[in-house]
Amino acid sequence: MSGASDFPSLPSGLASDTLAVQGGRQAYPYHALTAPVVLSAPFVFRNAEEVDAFVQAKRQGQTPFREYGRYGNPTVEAAERHLATLEGAEAALLFASGMSAITTALLVLLPPGSHLVLTQDMYRRTREFVGTWLPRLGVRHTIVPPGDHEALRTALRPETRLLFSEVPTNPYLRVPDLERMVALARRQGALVAVDATLASPVNLRPLDFGVDLVFHSATKYLGGHHDLLAGVVAGHEELIQRLREAMGVLGGVCAPQTAFLLIRGLKTLGLRVAQHNRNGQAVAAFLEGHPAVERVWYPGLPSHPDHVVARRQMKGFGGVVSFVLKGGLDAARQFLDALRIPLLGPSLGGVESLVMLPALMSYTNLSAEQRAALGIPDGLVRLALGIEDTEDLLQDLAEALAQVGV
Ligand code: PLP
Repeated sequence: MSGASDFPSLPSGLASDTLAVQGGRQAYPYHALTAPVVLSAPFVFRNAEEVDAFVQAKRQGQTPFREYGRYGNPTVEAAERHLATLEGAEAALLFASGMSAITTALLVLLPPGSHLVLTQDMYRRTREFVGTWLPRLGVRHTIVPPGDHEALRTALRPETRLLFSEVPTNPYLRVPDLERMVALARRQGALVAVDATLASPVNLRPLDFGVDLVFHSATKYLGGHHDLLAGVVAGHEELIQRLREAMGVLGGVCAPQTAFLLIRGLKTLGLRVAQHNRNGQAVAAFLEGHPAVERVWYPGLPSHPDHVVARRQMKGFGGVVSFVLKGGLDAARQFLDALRIPLLGPSLGGVESLVMLPALMSYTNLSAEQRAALGIPDGLVRLALGIEDTEDLLQDLAEALAQVGV
């Protein structure tokens, strides 16, 4: 599909709400306003001469088109340009899932013998990949608590190639200070990557703080409707090109239909995230004042350990609120069953509110003691608030908590 040059270029300094709508615009075939879905797996040549011209262009670093869907697709590339604009990045690369983006990037960035620093409280499958798969390739890692700069300084070594953190983390919504992390990593020549899934680019643009690569599970806020699985990484062109080449081998490509749904979702990202933020803030404040609740974790609350950093770095704090019920697992189960609006399930960032109990779901194979050692108490509830009316959600939560025997 042709470039955006046919349209007036967008003014600089646009708000993320505008970029979410307009950021991907380009002149499509048929004068279409929205991105056509191109389903062809191969892209064909009209004759041998065209093959010669294609090969020649590739040698000169140009890509007139990509000859096979694993190396690129016009609809997927339209979504990538849209996402790069939103992140303020030179380039972005879409994958079949957030995990595919993370695993592919870690394989590329961490050669045998290298070292990785990870912050605690990362998505459990990311930790699993780092803890059980990377050691097979001779890659070691150190885990540091988010916000502990002394531990980070000690963990960084000459062979450290990457510092990788979530911002905010999951489930405790910790918000590390990105500029300090970048400054420490630079001293060792390490890159900094951030998984900003829980923030979305509306609330946080990590590249503006000097971070090298930003990841998202696009399954969450970016898609926003619980109807697609995708992942994205954005950053410097040269880094993204290395990842693109690896994806051509590892094969975790995003399907064109998924890319179309993602572009469609992106256009309402600003509106949706504003309502997620409103719901998150209101519900967190309500829960903090409730007698059945022991503790609430939400970066928009002054009681959160990273509130000051979060206010400086983020424009809003999202729809995920974690809290611990005083009555432990029994109370948490009663609470889940009493809720009438949020449905019980994993994931976050979609229009429907979801609720999950880590002890019952992600960490069910561990004993209560093992969970406690990992910092997952049995009364911990993670609410992933959607975009329903705030008062309706508050009332539903109040009624469900009234049924909890504490
Ligand atoms: N990163 C974070 C913070 C997540 O919460 C998840 C999934 O829950 C992932 C990455 C993985 O993304 P996906 O499910 O799209 O593979």
